[in-house]
Amino acid sequence: MSETTRRPSGDGVAALPATRRMSIIAQDPSIRRKDGTILMAQIDIPAEDLIPGPMGYRVQVVDYDASTGRYNGAHALPALLDEEPKAWAAGSPKIVGDFRFHAQNTYALVMKTLARFELALGRRVGWSFHVHQLKVAPNGLQDANAFYSRADEGLVFGYFPGRGTETVYTCLSHDIVVHETTHALLDALRERYLDPSDPDQAAFHEGYADVIALLSVFSQVELVLELLRRGPGSGDTLTDAQVRAEALRKTALFGLAEQMGTEMDAVRGDALRRSAELRPGKAWLDDPEFQEPHRRGEILVAAVMNGFLEAWTGRLELAKVPGQKRHSLIRVAEEGADIAAALATLWIRAIDYMPPVHLKFGDALSAAVTADLEARPDDRRFALRRHMLASFAAYGIEPASTRADAPGAWAHERERMRYDRVRFESMRTDKDEVFRFLWDNRDEKRLNLRMGAYTEVLSVRPCVRVGVDGFTLHETVAEYYQVARLTPAELKHKGISLPPEYVAELERLRDEKRGKREESLRAAGEEIEAQPAPDTDPVTPVYGGGVLIFDEYGKLKYHVHNDVFGGRQSARLAHLWRVGQLRAEAEGARFSTERLSALHRSRAIGARRVPAERW
Ligand SMILES: [Zn+2]
Repeated sequence: MSETTRRPSGDGVAALPATRRMSIIAQDPSIRRKDGTILMAQIDIPAEDLIPGPMGYRVQVVDYDASTGRYNGAHALPALLDEEPKAWAAGSPKIVGDFRFHAQNTYALVMKTLARFELALGRRVGWSFHVHQLKVAPNGLQDANAFYSRADEGLVFGYFPGRGTETVYTCLSHDIVVHETTHALLDALRERYLDPSDPDQAAFHEGYADVIALLSVFSQVELVLELLRRGPGSGDTLTDAQVRAEALRKTALFGLAEQMGTEMDAVRGDALRRSAELRPGKAWLDDPEFQEPHRRGEILVAAVMNGFLEAWTGRLELAKVPGQKRHSLIRVAEEGADIAAALATLWIRAIDYMPPVHLKFGDALSAAVTADLEARPDDRRFALRRHMLASFAAYGIEPASTRADAPGAWAHERERMRYDRVRFESMRTDKDEVFRFLWDNRDEKRLNLRMGAYTEVLSVRPCVRVGVDGFTLHETVAEYYQVARLTPAELKHKGISLPPEYVAELERLRDEKRGKREESLRAAGEEIEAQPAPDTDPVTPVYGGGVLIFDEYGKLKYHVHNDVFGGRQSARLAHLWRVGQLRAEAEGARFSTERLSALHRSRAIGARRVPAERW
């Protein structure tokens, strides 16, 4: 680190600047400028002193290739933008084979995504596996694949032979690196979203990772400018017709999809092209083809990206001065990039307002609207909430909440809660204190915490969110979940019905097990009646839970929850049985989950043609 970048702090110790700038590939190596160089961008990330790897306080790049057993070494990254090799800033095609650059590109994009989440949420975000540093393998396997693995505590990026002579590296694709990092962050924030549930929840992990990845790509002015320049008849200005949503869809969304390396489609599933092609329609959600998680996720992506285009064109219209005929190209690009960044922030903040289990798209929309309303009450500049609601409605997604004064937002908690026995200071950080609050307010009229289910507080997080105008919002977000493991008869008593074929299978397996036991007792010459049968009635778990949002004075503002014995459980269990994720065993239910790497692999081999059974 050179002397010029350091500034003295109060105690005389040289302090680091808060951020540093790094060169990355704007999208992927296939997007070239006219002169054949790769389109590059510069991004700001939190500054830190890295050790070779690179390894910092949150990310550890391990350039180990598990397919060949080769270690590509620990890379020492340039400490400053000025110290980067000329080939990096210039976008020389040589950087595609430069492993040191691979390390920089991956490290910078993972850190940028983490910083985006932490800034939006107003707090630190840990990883789901309780280790501080996420391991990242930029060239980790020889395969057209990239994935997040909770078990490996990291991200693995593959590489594979391209159609020409060049090798294709997934770690050089902006959208793929951000997509995988988003899976890791979403898993850290909502650990139960990988559990089997409604089709929406499985679709959400994929669709959400695509949304954040695409908005991250579009938040780069360099890239948006390049796409607009390639549009038809573009000089330094654009006409009104060229900045309408339909025209922007062609130049920006399709323009990018066309430029992106199609070889990478095996990994990313061509989310951008498909979501750009998926026209608004209320029937998609019920279409059998869209029951498969990846395809269903595309509905979410299409709804967000269409809303993005509408917000962009709306902003340009609003900012026009009377008599203005043309729009400056750079201005259009900057507005687009700003809106993409603001929309990414809105969708990241939304996570805190989503129920911890059994998410539906309508819940996600209400969460997004509420989070944005709280942190950024004045929506006049970009009208993001209005555009999100309109675009989701066009795809048949209505907000879960029907609040009248603020459309789509969760209802304020109006019931008077009991606070007399809880200590607010502790409730900002202490799970036991939050549990006490739940317990004191467990009755039906307040939180309706169901007795007969096990309750656990999963997390308590104080946050300070800063709006664009410097306005700060202090909140505490606590998550709890509930589980009850009950026999078919007990579930029926709670109003939950199980699929009849499933119950028949449970009974058959239970009887078979009892028969075997009796047989072995008989063979041992023992009296069957003298040996009381163990309690072998098979049980099926049902899950519920909620999020509590407290204001800065410790008063409950929102309670977003799913009832553990609620009305949706019967339909959910029927769905899981139908798609083979719920299985009967002698002891009871067994749910099958799928790792994200497996999800991505099935995407690569074209799972989209087969509906939900692919799980
Ligand atoms: Zn994914």
